[in-house]
Amino acid sequence: MPQLIKLSGQQLFLPVYHLVCNEAPPHIKHLYQTRNEKLFRQDLDYLLKHFEPLTFEALNATVLQGKSLQKPGFFLTFDDGLREIYDVVAPILIEKGVPAAFFLNSAFHDNKALFYRYQVSVLIEKLQQKTVPDSAKKLVAQTLLEKQLLKPGDLKNSLLAINFNSRDVLPELAEILEVDFEEYLKTQKPYLTTAQTQELIKQGFYIGAHSHDHPEYRLVSLQEQLKQTFTSIDFLTQKFNLPYRWFAFPFTDEGVSRKFFVEIFKENKVQLSFGSAGLKHDSFPQHLQRFPMEGTLQSAEELIKTEYVYYLAKAPLGKNKILRR
Ligand SMILES: [Zn+2]
Repeated sequence: MPQLIKLSGQQLFLPVYHLVCNEAPPHIKHLYQTRNEKLFRQDLDYLLKHFEPLTFEALNATVLQGKSLQKPGFFLTFDDGLREIYDVVAPILIEKGVPAAFFLNSAFHDNKALFYRYQVSVLIEKLQQKTVPDSAKKLVAQTLLEKQLLKPGDLKNSLLAINFNSRDVLPELAEILEVDFEEYLKTQKPYLTTAQTQELIKQGFYIGAHSHDHPEYRLVSLQEQLKQTFTSIDFLTQKFNLPYRWFAFPFTDEGVSRKFFVEIFKENKVQLSFGSAGLKHDSFPQHLQRFPMEGTLQSAEELIKTEYVYYLAKAPLGKNKILRR
């Protein structure tokens, strides 16, 4: 690892997670492989062995003032503002002395609403129960067909293909399957509450915005992208009296224009923003790319080494920089 860092010249490593759990909750279970507590602790031990945990100030100094790092450093971030941040992640990070930032959606904070992808996962979970009659499954297929959302394969495929623009079908499907998202929010409480968030801030963690209701930015207009971004940032800065303004893209920043970045960085409206394209640079230095640690049970060592090898392989081709048009 030290050799890979030295060869690549990449001293800054930014892992991104959503949650840590020993059993994935229904709203996430069908979307991606989560990391459990044991694996997360091993991730941290590996990171701490090869990188220094950076403070908020150190990260800012490196990115905004161009101060070079004396030693390899890492900074942890978590997207979607899930309750497991408070229940599982924060206590481990405090124990290990590792700072982190958590990115929240203004529409979902305090369990006000459920992200449409999480609705999809809850519906898939219900579909897999033996209690659902075939007639209900047929009606789900018919509804999807009428809206041209029925895909080849099982219903799970069609549900997973639903995006921000077709999400209006979900309440209809929920009614057919007798799933009550309001009730789910009340009983499961998937998201952080205001009180929990205040406590996390008091404990020294940082929070940032993650859009209002988590659209795929490439599917919405520039105007909507900016509205989503500023609505969530203004909500958090006002509610929690934050002296900084950070933003992490929902899903991906792929296809997001140069104009968007020019707008958000104007007058310091956003100080730092985060994507998740892996170990890469962006044409906007204030926009940092993070490496996704989830979706696999591979060890941090395997994941991070592979990413550095990949970076080195692409370097002669000039493919480590994202250009914006
Ligand atoms: Zn997200």
